[in-house]
Amino acid sequence: MTVTRFAPSPTGRLHLGHAFSALFAQRAAHAAGGRFLLRIEDTDRGRCRPEFEAGIYEDLAWLGLDWEKPVRRQSEHMADYAAALARLEGMGLLYKCFCTRAEIMREIEAAGGAPHESGALYPGTCRHRAADDVATRVASGAPYALRLDVRKALEVTGPLEWIDRAAGRQRAAPERLGDVVLARKEFPASYHLAVVHDDRLQQIDLVTRGVDLFEATHIHRLLQALLGYAAPAYWHHRLVLDEKGQRLAKRAGGMALKELREAGKTAASILKELDF
Ligand code: GLU
Repeated sequence: MTVTRFAPSPTGRLHLGHAFSALFAQRAAHAAGGRFLLRIEDTDRGRCRPEFEAGIYEDLAWLGLDWEKPVRRQSEHMADYAAALARLEGMGLLYKCFCTRAEIMREIEAAGGAPHESGALYPGTCRHRAADDVATRVASGAPYALRLDVRKALEVTGPLEWIDRAAGRQRAAPERLGDVVLARKEFPASYHLAVVHDDRLQQIDLVTRGVDLFEATHIHRLLQALLGYAAPAYWHHRLVLDEKGQRLAKRAGGMALKELREAGKTAASILKELDF
């Protein structure tokens, strides 16, 4: 049974790129007689808005998509992600990183966010901090993030592979993302951990998403192996580009489905434009 999902974060209105991704996921499921789910990835309460979540349902229904209910909303399951995190911590694979948020933002993906923009790798400044140094910092109330020691994790799992329907068999190379942030102090979730946990829980066996998340899959494969989860198949699809050849995520203005609808476009014309 093929089970796919579309997993948007309600941080803005959906645009043509989201429409393509959702239609792609539904088509992959239906072509195989399978199931299609929608998941709301709203762990980042600072950036998510109820009106954007409502917009997701409105836009997808307008496109003619039909997803299984109930919809899983990640913000309602933070304890699940905390438990997965605790398992990794118990394996001695996490370390506290006190580098400032500004440095983290500059060096690597925004903590907890989907790493659409690949930044420089975290240089490992806090990886080998002495235990008493860590204890002093924690006691002083210094904020920290929990990072995965990727090299150590790979020693536990050994070499890993994953399959992409478009790009073929891949050797998992999580070191390409460095020691990713898996949680922040008092916020036990990150995109990576929540997505891996939920894909397994919801029995997703074909993860379809844009190629902008191709690199993240290396880390997801590692997390699956550490947590004892079976690996789904992947199918990273093309991104929808604007007339200047730029990704829509950066410049959604004018391409939001709501705006296109209000400008008189029909769902049928959008599907045609996207080759569905
Ligand atoms: N929620 C993620 C995003 O908004 C996508 C998650 C996924 O498909 O793995 O980009």
